[in-house]
Amino acid sequence: MQFDRSAAASALIGIGREFHRRGWSLGTSSNYSVVASRDPLELLVTASGKDKSALGEEDFLRVDANGGLLAGEGPGKASAETMLHCMIASVLPWVGGILHTHSVWGTVLSRVDLPRGSLRIEGYEMLKGLSGIETHETAEEVPIFANSQRIDALADQIRLRFLSPEWGEGSRPPFHGFLLAGHGLYTWGRDLAEARRQIEIFEFLFEVVARSRSWSAQSLPLPGGQPRQQWAGGGPGGYHDVQQQQ
Ligand SMILES: [Zn+2]
Repeated sequence: MQFDRSAAASALIGIGREFHRRGWSLGTSSNYSVVASRDPLELLVTASGKDKSALGEEDFLRVDANGGLLAGEGPGKASAETMLHCMIASVLPWVGGILHTHSVWGTVLSRVDLPRGSLRIEGYEMLKGLSGIETHETAEEVPIFANSQRIDALADQIRLRFLSPEWGEGSRPPFHGFLLAGHGLYTWGRDLAEARRQIEIFEFLFEVVARSRSWSAQSLPLPGGQPRQQWAGGGPGGYHDVQQQQ
């Protein structure tokens, strides 16, 4: 089927507006792509340094499997992270769209959990929004990689994780996205709609996990076993620190 560049650009422009409004792609952060051709592999990606709230049709570039601009493309240069899009599209032959966000919660959690190598999300109904998950009784381990400006080396490192023997060739990997520490999320889908849905699901889950951890930390018992907080009634805000009452 012939690739419709104008329709793809228009879908990505809509995604940029939405993700900016929801705080996941502020300023010129983030980048998005769709697979324009499989043989040879070519992608339509966001150009570098564009405000995601105001993308225009001219803000996309067609690149080859190595991130190089095709003849006639430009002016402008492809996003620095184009190689990550190319790597994902090459290791997952069924992928049609790849999206990357820089949200607050993804940034926070990816730094905190970098030492353990992944973010574990377990037991939430919303996990069913990730393709192939049919019950909340599951856990998603989102791999986390140290951030780097050496994108080629980073792409090689992430490719190795994709090629791990945990999953067979042609099947889906055991994760639906990955995080770069202190940076953001990458996810993908058979098409842009699936990738967009997974961004939305992940961003919801990141916020839930981060807020839950913050809530539990505040509710930890004080030394001596006293609860830190107790319900004092009186509607929202009725929690009081036990020590302050004494
Ligand atoms: Zn980024």
